[in-house]
Amino acid sequence: MTQKSRKTTDHKGAHCSFCGASAEEVPLMFNGADGSSICSSCVEHGYELLVEHGIVAGAANAKAKGGKAASKFKPLTKADLMRPDSIKRFLDDYVIGQDAAKRYMSVAVYNHYKRLLAKGKTEDVELDKSNIVLVGPTGTGKTLMARTIARLLHVPFSIVDATALTQAGYVGEDVESILSRLLQAADYDVEAAERGIIFIDEIDKIARKGDNPSITRDVSGEGVQQALLKILEGTVVNVPPQGGRKHPDQKYIQVDTSNILFICGGAFDGIEKKIAMRLNTNAIGYGTQTRKRIDESNIMSYIQPQDLRSFGLIPELIGRLPVLTYMEPLERAALRSILTEPKNSIIRQYETLMALDDIKLTFDDDVLDYIVDKAIEFKLGARGLRSICEAIMMDVMFDMPEGDAKEFRVTLAYAKSKIDKAA
Ligand code: ADP
Repeated sequence: MTQKSRKTTDHKGAHCSFCGASAEEVPLMFNGADGSSICSSCVEHGYELLVEHGIVAGAANAKAKGGKAASKFKPLTKADLMRPDSIKRFLDDYVIGQDAAKRYMSVAVYNHYKRLLAKGKTEDVELDKSNIVLVGPTGTGKTLMARTIARLLHVPFSIVDATALTQAGYVGEDVESILSRLLQAADYDVEAAERGIIFIDEIDKIARKGDNPSITRDVSGEGVQQALLKILEGTVVNVPPQGGRKHPDQKYIQVDTSNILFICGGAFDGIEKKIAMRLNTNAIGYGTQTRKRIDESNIMSYIQPQDLRSFGLIPELIGRLPVLTYMEPLERAALRSILTEPKNSIIRQYETLMALDDIKLTFDDDVLDYIVDKAIEFKLGARGLRSICEAIMMDVMFDMPEGDAKEFRVTLAYAKSKIDKAA
């Protein structure tokens, strides 16, 4: 299209009736019958407003009509492929400790995206997906780890709670709805969603109850596991764009899940007992030598896929989650580091928030120790740190923006007074 033909105006010197731009300044000018005009920039802006107000569905519509909307997610290239040690270093900036899990994750993610880039180039060997399970107590950084990986790769990321899912036909969310969330996170850019990451939280809560496979339908447990199988492995799914239940009259968007990386997380409360039992049983067979080599203080490090099976995950599901690793409970020193060390640590966030109001915020060292003590006392892990900080900072954040003071120092006495008040 030539520059000339892009300007539909036949009256030279026409100006946009909305923004005043001249025909020479814009790619395209539309002329109305009464001599008024509108430029392409204003049309574009109007379209954005329609999307913003939900009057049109934006990129979803464009895609459904075979068009292509601009996406903030760029296709993956070889240059984006970071090696496992670089991935781990990136994780180190955000996630404290959890070395074993970071190493597993780095390799799994590297392999996953290598497989994606090599598609069609390895004819003889088909590379399997490396979906991941992270086992560990709540508040140890499972979600944070998955989110950080997505941030590193600039791919769409969504979190779903396995407990909200049910098998088709029952009250609750269909398993397909996990893809609706990803599509939303991808601004309905289907290609971007198809290489995104989905974090399925509380995967342990859909374990089969009891040891025997159920003969009746198990709506919340085994049925959901069955429904997840195909999606985890890779299939084309008809996804309801707005999520929720499937509806016969609804328009679906087709999403291929073969390149979506699934990371599942779960606390698997009590799994240590099952691991210990297995280790003991094995040890009997091999004599006392083997028994000695077991580090009893770190039973989780011996986790194997069969332990997930004895916990109630079906073998087919375990087979589709080949990378299994564990998260350690966070000790005092780790909790202390979480407060200040990560790039977006909790304390840095408060300092930044106050700095936006030109207020210099400082915390005494003993306040940080006190916050950690309280988090341990409340048994909330790293999740507790945030809520304790909120309780301490609430009044400061309410009062300071109004006043004239340009500095605030959080002392131990101040922190204690706020926590005692909240307790
Ligand atoms: P989980 O998914 O294991 O329940 P989250 O990842 O949601 O835990 O962690 C909750 C919050 O605690 C995170 O937002 C983060 O601020 C903090 N956190 C937890 N574990 C870590 C960690 N290992 N390093 C840094 N921050 C952490």
